[in-house]
Amino acid sequence: MRSPKTSGAGLTIAPVFRALLICGDGGCAETFEAYGSLDELEALACDCGCVLEVLEISELEDVDTMCGFELARVR
Ligand SMILES: [Zn+2]
Repeated sequence: MRSPKTSGAGLTIAPVFRALLICGDGGCAETFEAYGSLDELEALACDCGCVLEVLEISELEDVDTMCGFELARVR
């Protein structure tokens, strides 16, 4: 029996990051937790329309548990 794991040619998996984001608007200051690629995280905006600033970011190693992009309000 062959191993199902092959060195996948042409398989590119973008690294997934977990980020803590805060709204750039001082009067809003909503905080969000988001999961996704850097491109996705940089494209995020708050409900109020302001750009979200990254407070904290870390790369997830356990990507298998992630299924796509997620954005959750922290509070
Ligand atoms: Zn906001």
